[in-house]
Amino acid sequence: MQVYHPNNKYAFWESHFGWPGVRVIMIPGFLWTGQSVDGRTGKVGNSLMQLDALAFGAHPDDVELSCAGTLIKLHCRGYKTGVISLTRGELGTRGSAKIRAEEFQQAAEIMGLSTHTILDIPDGNIEANWENKIKVICKIRAHKPKIVLAPFWEDRHPDHGHTSHLVREAAFLAGLKRIETNQEVHRPYRVIYYPCRFEFRPSFIVDITEFHDRKMKAIQAYKSQFHNPEKGKYGEEETNVSRAEFLEAILTRAKQYGSHIGVSYGEPFLVREPLRLDDPVASFGPESLQGFL
Ligand SMILES: [Zn+2]
Repeated sequence: MQVYHPNNKYAFWESHFGWPGVRVIMIPGFLWTGQSVDGRTGKVGNSLMQLDALAFGAHPDDVELSCAGTLIKLHCRGYKTGVISLTRGELGTRGSAKIRAEEFQQAAEIMGLSTHTILDIPDGNIEANWENKIKVICKIRAHKPKIVLAPFWEDRHPDHGHTSHLVREAAFLAGLKRIETNQEVHRPYRVIYYPCRFEFRPSFIVDITEFHDRKMKAIQAYKSQFHNPEKGKYGEEETNVSRAEFLEAILTRAKQYGSHIGVSYGEPFLVREPLRLDDPVASFGPESLQGFL
């Protein structure tokens, strides 16, 4: 029987030798006895946190730049949130994979995430291939998020577009029980897209006014990447995102989207499918008239 193990990089073969709950994994030249298999259910032990919202980014800092305000807002409302970066961002001009991992950790604490993970997909080469789909499927099944956030599928950076396709496909496939990973199947209710460089006409905008300062703190945890007084420690080479103007642009974008809904700061999102609305009268109250443009 071929199964894909949620905690390992590659698919491998496993055999059962008749002892309940004991299995031996065989891959060429290597023997591993699974420790986390539930003897009663046969499922791989899942100590991982069940989430309400799980955001995927191609690189550490993608999610912070685009939708940290919404994740912080959800956390403050009692929801469990998480972020997964598909790569370590090792191709970045400034900093290093190790430094970015430390910054990712600090940003996660600021955002109040219940879980945060960096996967080992190569930076600059994110493919929607089967191996990567299995990695994302395993994470979705482990955390069982109600909603998944992913980058908009059109973007200047190829990794962002590929991440969008990979996450969308994996979110669907995670619900197919014949893709066996020794986990319960789970399909999120909705994949919601956030913009990176390229923008879209949003399906909805979230008011993040109360959480905008905290969002900027999460972004500024990435001291190696963005403008800050210490950035000289991480290299002399200036990049597009290390200039002061970049953070101003992030702030300006939040103000612009906030202006559409009559608040100080907002984050835009896109969904592919029509949104259900059962009571248009109740849904469109006086706040619908708000907006500065
Ligand atoms: Zn990125």
